[in-house]
Amino acid sequence: MDRELTIYNTLTRRKEIFKPLHAPHVGMYVCGPTVYGDGHLGHARPAITFDILYRYLTHLGYKVRYVRNITDVGHLEHDADEGEDKIAKKARLEQKEPMEVVQYYLNRYHKAMEALGVLPPSIEPHASGHIIEQIDFVKKILDAGYAYESEGSIYFDVKKYNKDHHYGKLSGRNIDDLLETTRELDGQNEKHCALDFALWKKAQPEHIMRWPSPWSDGFPGWHMECSAMGTKYLGEEFDIHGGGMDLIFPHHECEIAQSTAALGKETVHYWMHNNMITINGQKMGKSLGNFITLDEFFTGSHKLLAQPYTAMTIRFFILQAHYRSTVDFSNEALQAAEKGLARLTDAYNRLMRLKASKETSGIELKNYRELCEAALCDDLNTPIVISHLYDASKAINTVTDGKGTISEADLEELKSVFNLFMVDLLGLRVSEDSSSSSDAYKGAVDLLLDIRKAAKANKDWATSDKIRDELAKLGFNVKDTKDGFEWSL
Ligand code: ZN
Repeated sequence: MDRELTIYNTLTRRKEIFKPLHAPHVGMYVCGPTVYGDGHLGHARPAITFDILYRYLTHLGYKVRYVRNITDVGHLEHDADEGEDKIAKKARLEQKEPMEVVQYYLNRYHKAMEALGVLPPSIEPHASGHIIEQIDFVKKILDAGYAYESEGSIYFDVKKYNKDHHYGKLSGRNIDDLLETTRELDGQNEKHCALDFALWKKAQPEHIMRWPSPWSDGFPGWHMECSAMGTKYLGEEFDIHGGGMDLIFPHHECEIAQSTAALGKETVHYWMHNNMITINGQKMGKSLGNFITLDEFFTGSHKLLAQPYTAMTIRFFILQAHYRSTVDFSNEALQAAEKGLARLTDAYNRLMRLKASKETSGIELKNYRELCEAALCDDLNTPIVISHLYDASKAINTVTDGKGTISEADLEELKSVFNLFMVDLLGLRVSEDSSSSSDAYKGAVDLLLDIRKAAKANKDWATSDKIRDELAKLGFNVKDTKDGFEWSL
């Protein structure tokens, strides 16, 4: 932890040096998916962004408690307070138990995340499993005087809160502008003001997901789960809260208001948000027909896709952009990412097989470790890390092409840099032939080629040619180099 990590805080709108509350412990909360359909790119980006942060904080020596929630109740269709519960609707349409729907899509989400190389969080709490905590939280807000009951539902009193605090501080909005742009109440509404949001909703008779509370049989408002579960597992104050930019308003704005109202203080020290993904320059949306699920990317089964793309290609593509920039998906861009990743993987595989020369290095090597650390410390600048790895790849290729030499010490350092930054921190899974489980297979090919080398030295051309030809038939590419040989599959 002798390094200073700088992260951009959405709340203060500037980069800040990260100073945890209780080092070496770090508490980190990221809004997870509402599980009523298959995961798509909008799920992949925050998962990958905060996976990098999780990995990097751990690398810096912090003990991270990473909480990523599962929304399985209370996320209504139209906005936070209206329409049918998304999961209940799916359950009704498919004639399933809501929890059956949740489990089905959660299993698929986990599978997709694993394919994308996203590490599981430390705790993955479900909103439906924390109804008691949410009711307690609502009670605290009521006791503090920032909420009111209306027809069995509890609403947050935004105007009153705004008198004492600032509603809109995260999103940079102010209450007067919001009031102007929010539709008028029709008089039938239970809310005192259109900006008020539900903390607890009374369930309509047909509503199947419902729990008893002091006010009515009902369910919590969507924003409540993150306030309740974040503070339950990370404390009344914790370090980092993350999510996609689309959650800044109203979700995170409401979370700040709820926590400040209930606890009398700010809960979150650093707010972090990843930017959005567009597809061919357009926003993703079911109505636009460009809503591509992760599974469709992996299988290439969506009509907008020219081919399937591996999960690692998608991860690499996302990491090629800084998390605060937008990313636009297109077949061209993904194909370029696929090639770029293949180049890097190839360099990695060559590096792992490279033999050092006895002499000092005959190539110029930069201090890649230092450069990559500096890039990640600078608000997780993954594209810069990738550019340094490309630069190092050129040096590797110079040596494998026989145009340069590398010393034992430099070779070990370069291997360590690639293993740390490419594999451990960027989480780019290198293709099968370099995984440790296939060490035996690599050893066997090397052994065959050593026999071939010896045969050549003895002018036993028959043996030498047979080994080369048979390996070629199996798909191996064998190249003789100055120091011996190299191969790829
Ligand atoms: Zn949330």
